[in-house]
Amino acid sequence: MLLGALEAGGTKMVLAVGNENGEILDRASIPTETPEITVPRIIEYFKDKNIEALGIGSFGPVDLDKASKAYGHITSTPKLAWVDYDIVGEIKKELQVPVGFDTDVNAAALGEATWGSIKGVPSGIYITVGTGVGVGVYMNGQLLHGMLHPEAGHVLLSRHPEDNFEGVCPYHPNCMEGLASGPSIEKRWNQKAIALADRKEVWELEAYYLAQGIVNYILTLSPHKIVLGGGVMHQEQLFPLIRSQVITLLNGYVKTARLADIDNYIVPASLNDNQGIMGCIQLAKMELQ
Ligand code: ADP
Ligand code: ZN
Repeated sequence: MLLGALEAGGTKMVLAVGNENGEILDRASIPTETPEITVPRIIEYFKDKNIEALGIGSFGPVDLDKASKAYGHITSTPKLAWVDYDIVGEIKKELQVPVGFDTDVNAAALGEATWGSIKGVPSGIYITVGTGVGVGVYMNGQLLHGMLHPEAGHVLLSRHPEDNFEGVCPYHPNCMEGLASGPSIEKRWNQKAIALADRKEVWELEAYYLAQGIVNYILTLSPHKIVLGGGVMHQEQLFPLIRSQVITLLNGYVKTARLADIDNYIVPASLNDNQGIMGCIQLAKMELQ
């Protein structure tokens, strides 16, 4: 069975054709420009590929409420050309196949839940730390939407007393995305994140912020497993720093066997940076069922 996958990101669109086992058979990437330029290119890619369904994991915020008139729209994004754009409707009209739709991070959580680190685990969250910070939540066999969908990359944090950096989020001076995303690292330290690899203080501060967010998610969602992905998490030195800060901040209050085995509780993404696109394949598959 051939299934289409579209990982719609703020800077690029990843397009792929895969099968029901999550194997990726073909893949392409195009820049995200305006819908007028980019959507015809998406249609062009998929139109002769014989896909039975398409799954879209999109940047957002997006409307996921099937009862809403704006279902399938990108809503209040800072990418102005895409505000209120009916991405599901426009693509479905052209391709005439069922289209599954969720946020980009929920898709990645679904990829990890179907084929990766959260497979066989009752619940888990996937946190991406890249251009933005986002959290996908998988609970009771489903992705969590709620009123809109979690926007947990914007949880508010306590600032490090010595950090005077103003943050990069236009909405919140103290949110996790504003203080800990890739662009925030680069603006604070005035260098590409990857070039800061051997600067211990950079990653200690990064872990200080990520651990606060993670502690909030442990306390509110009680996930059985936490997976961290995205470009910034390629700095593997972050994992021990985050784990130890999480233990410090929880201060013994939450006691479970999973948490006691923290090396297997807070883990890196396991699908070679394909968790998002594989999750989109699963979204397509679920739309057919
Ligand atoms: P996106 O979030 O746009 O999908 P990524 O997850 O690749 O893309 O995140 C991009 C961000 O991650 C950039 O800010 C980049 O500097 C940072 N980044 C990418 N690779 C690394 C690395 N090896 N170490 C630290 N930061 C990285
Ligand atoms: Zn914010």
